[in-house]
Amino acid sequence: MKALAKLKPEPGIWMTDVPEPEVGHNDLLIKIHKTAICGTDVHIYNWDHWSQQTVPVGLVTGHEYVGEVVGMGIEVTGFEVGDRVSGEGHITCGYCRNCRAGRRHLCRNSIGVGVQRSGAFAEYLVIPAFNAFKLPDEVTDDIAAIFDPFGNAVHTALSFPLVGEDVLITGAGPIGIMAAAVARHAGARHVVVTDINDYRLELAAKMGATRTVNVARESLDEVTRAIGMTEGYDVGLEMSGVPSAFRSMLTAMNHGGKVALLGIPPEEMGIDWSQVIFKGLELKGIYGREMFETWYKMASLIQSGLDLTPMITHHLPVDDFQDGFEIMRSGQSGKVILDWT
Ligand code: NAD
Ligand code: ZN
Repeated sequence: MKALAKLKPEPGIWMTDVPEPEVGHNDLLIKIHKTAICGTDVHIYNWDHWSQQTVPVGLVTGHEYVGEVVGMGIEVTGFEVGDRVSGEGHITCGYCRNCRAGRRHLCRNSIGVGVQRSGAFAEYLVIPAFNAFKLPDEVTDDIAAIFDPFGNAVHTALSFPLVGEDVLITGAGPIGIMAAAVARHAGARHVVVTDINDYRLELAAKMGATRTVNVARESLDEVTRAIGMTEGYDVGLEMSGVPSAFRSMLTAMNHGGKVALLGIPPEEMGIDWSQVIFKGLELKGIYGREMFETWYKMASLIQSGLDLTPMITHHLPVDDFQDGFEIMRSGQSGKVILDWT
């Protein structure tokens, strides 16, 4: 079958031909319809330090997808051939303390689809049936293809109550933008989004940010005062991984504020801890999506009218994947979809 794989230990991803994956007793065989390119795929493409440590050469990449069940192992129940599915990309062990307590997103042994095991940039994908999520009709193939990053946004944004709250989001990458949409949909008052990229800030405004701030030109503190906020933000969602953005967030939070951290900073990130301690801030690290509470919330948000379609700015046939990666690398995009059908 056709697949996009990391064939060489150097920058690039290559179209190749690999055997169809084998279906285990508890697995689903999924025919891929559409995939989306994640920031992680761009890291793997660039072959940065993290990917060199993590990704085996030869691996089929990709973990954002939608497809159709075309086969299954003999132990599988609850799915039928023809079901439209996306899936959770963290394959958990099932036996660690957190897995056994139902907190699968905290599994200490999780393995990433398209990162450590064969991924979705292929005509067929095999995953444990446990990891698949059956899609309601209201979720189109395009939107289902971006459920993985949407799940990061939903998991982070819904970590704390949002109704009537003032929310600061640092980083208007696809995940930050979708978090702004979720916060607004869920009833936040001000949803202020920062970035240094005007293209992305414009998209954030279209998706639900009530005010965007280009911190290369504008002062967050001045904007916060100008919109009439005298005390500070109630909820902070860090979605850039940039230390200066996190530091500005800590300064901008109100006392008792709650901060969720999704963005992955460099190894060391110095902060002014007195902001955390004297303000009584609550900090929460976020990894992945809750299995499967986040997935149910995602479907419900779409069914209750949240429109993510402006997030998808580019559609390409999979043979043009190089262009897709270039577009992602340019920063002048929302989500880029590759069509496999
Ligand atoms: P992205 O790289 O597309 O977005 C990051 C954004 O931050 C960019 O738009 C960039 O211009 C912006 N930025 C740069 N400097 C800034 C500054 N000073 N202030 C504000 N914004 C600034 O990434 P994404 O795909 O949207 O993901 C967001 C973050 O979450 C990344 O760090 C990613 O690695 C991380 N991530 C974490 C998890 C997890 O499970 N914890 C999962 C997926 C992604
Ligand atoms: Zn586990």
